[in-house]
Amino acid sequence: MADVEYLTVTAALTAVLQGVSVLPAEQVALADALGRVLVEPIVARDNLPPFANSAMDGYALVAADLEGVSGDNPVVLQVIGDIAAGAAPEIQVTRGTAVRIMTGAPMPAGADAVIPVEDTNEAWRDKTRPLPSTILISRAVQPGDYLRPAGGDVRAGQTVLEAGHLLRPQELGLLASLGIPELGVIRRPKVGILATGDELIPVAEPLRPGKIRNSNSYTQMAQVTMLGAIPVSLGIAGDTEADVRARLQDGLDAGVDLFISSAGVSVGAYDVVKAVLEAEGNVGFWRVRMRPGKPLAYGTYHGVPYLGLPGNPVSAMVSFERFARAAILKMAGHTNLERPQIQVEVQEKLTSDGRESYLRAVVEKRDGRYVATTSGSQDSHVISSLVKANALLIIPEGCTQVSAGETLTAWMFDWPETVF
Ligand code: AMP
Ligand code: MG
Repeated sequence: MADVEYLTVTAALTAVLQGVSVLPAEQVALADALGRVLVEPIVARDNLPPFANSAMDGYALVAADLEGVSGDNPVVLQVIGDIAAGAAPEIQVTRGTAVRIMTGAPMPAGADAVIPVEDTNEAWRDKTRPLPSTILISRAVQPGDYLRPAGGDVRAGQTVLEAGHLLRPQELGLLASLGIPELGVIRRPKVGILATGDELIPVAEPLRPGKIRNSNSYTQMAQVTMLGAIPVSLGIAGDTEADVRARLQDGLDAGVDLFISSAGVSVGAYDVVKAVLEAEGNVGFWRVRMRPGKPLAYGTYHGVPYLGLPGNPVSAMVSFERFARAAILKMAGHTNLERPQIQVEVQEKLTSDGRESYLRAVVEKRDGRYVATTSGSQDSHVISSLVKANALLIIPEGCTQVSAGETLTAWMFDWPETVF
């Protein structure tokens, strides 16, 4: 590997991102749109709420009837009807009258406010709730109180979401409220996951001398899934060109948008990945100034972007988080490619060789602050300290020592407060 380039993390990330493009759009059902990025603005066809309705279980009335009303000076109104949620009332409220109304039921004509049932003498906890003929009220309300005007949330004709917006659960709720059963979003990236190495055996096989189980594929398929993309397992390729080609062909047949392989990119590894990519596409090998995860291959195979991650499980996972994550998110149309990060106080002295370092750590909340301790061995083959970790602690490039009490950036795998 004479043509290995040395790159900073930032330069490597920039190059990876330049090599991938946003995928085309597709129409999907609203229920399938979670985590997708909109390709067109959404304009409300209807008002939200579509009609004025009650915000409380209570009585719709004319606010002027309650002017000056108090505990010492209550008023009695005549109850002339009952409006349930879902009803389309034709009843007219006039001075001196009130209509019982449920939360969400349409306001009757003539009424301009609602008095909550709790502020009346109705025994509303009674299950049967017979309609009283009169109601005693001992407090005033203003016009507009306890009612939700039509269009008070969203006005018909308003642009509610711009193209590029990420669809979260609450966006799906808004779109449902506006009667949008399907919409245009960026297609989910299909990511082919390939493990390489003669030492690898499938997880269900018994161990044999010299063999280890393929763990990277499982981690990587899960990482792809967690990003809302579609993993396509390409299995294990032995260290032969024919094997690697056959597996990559499976990926082409499956229509993958990105190949991610692990192993075979370090100095001393059999250079089969390199040979295959040079014959059928192009490839560059980089030594990235990061720890773990130094070797990285980047290129294309038959025009499909290809990212070759290191083989050691921790290096593979960290490199995925650093480079593959951003590439997949870009393809899926996201504009925020940065991982969420927080500042944490380090609880111990840490050292680095000056490369940008990603340390497995446990971040906890103590006295309202986030503090971090490393979670065990930082060797790049040690999965158990990765399992103990809920974060990666980043020592910046050029920094060789961090004292206890100093602040570092952490990438959270999950939050101390999170159940899953
Ligand atoms: P390499 O990059 O081929 O030199 O591999 C580096 C280290 O990662 C070696 O110890 C490999 O056995 C290990 N390794 C490679 N691929 C996998 C995999 N899919 N699952 C677990 N360990 C792996
Ligand atoms: Mg190998």
